[in-house]
Amino acid sequence: MPEGPSIVILKELVQRFKGKEIVKVEGNSTLDIQEIAGQTITDFKSWGKHFLICLTNFTVRIHFMLFGSYRINEQKETKPRLSLQFQEGQINFYTCSVQFITENLDEVYDWSSDVMSELWDAEKAKHKLKQQPDTLVCDALLDKRIFSGVGNIIKNEVLFRIRVHPESDAGALPEEVLEEMIKDARIYSFDFFEWKKNYVLKKHWLAHTKKICPRCNIPLIKKYAGTTKRRTFFCNNCQVLYKRI
Ligand SMILES: [Zn+2]
Repeated sequence: MPEGPSIVILKELVQRFKGKEIVKVEGNSTLDIQEIAGQTITDFKSWGKHFLICLTNFTVRIHFMLFGSYRINEQKETKPRLSLQFQEGQINFYTCSVQFITENLDEVYDWSSDVMSELWDAEKAKHKLKQQPDTLVCDALLDKRIFSGVGNIIKNEVLFRIRVHPESDAGALPEEVLEEMIKDARIYSFDFFEWKKNYVLKKHWLAHTKKICPRCNIPLIKKYAGTTKRRTFFCNNCQVLYKRI
């Protein structure tokens, strides 16, 4: 599943289509996608894992879900869910969810919860975490209302980097550790973005999908932790478990 930084990469890749008219639309989406034909793309935006194609009258929201993908100026063998064709070039989306948003995007999205947004608000994230002290940090990091754009890889890597056990209670983290987690969620997302663009992302993984702790040289634990039950990799020795009493 693409995480926030991958969507920001896509946003960069399609900039050349901004201001261009969509001359033809195809795809097996059940929406009336022909409504898109003839419209001009006014902007591309993203919110976490949502990719937003802004048109004159409404916005097309692409969510890549678990297996979604895209191709620019080329096609896969399978039929696209949505294919946008221009005078020169095309963008094709596969196995994704497509929706139309007619409301003003500022009413639909809280940009301050997107870890890669210019409007990201760390203080607000801290406030939200304090409202739910019993939430495990492995679940909190995947909560898009707090950390939109953070996916499972970022979750595992951030917690390893800051030496926090994924099953710690958010409300038990010392103030400076809580602040470090919030700060690193953003820093690591931008690292992820640079590494992914240069095809060296996996090389930088310290815990995600790894078997041995690079700090302690002992086996890492793999567990489907928290209520989100996503694959969680961590070291029982160097990642501190903070629990509320
Ligand atoms: Zn360790």
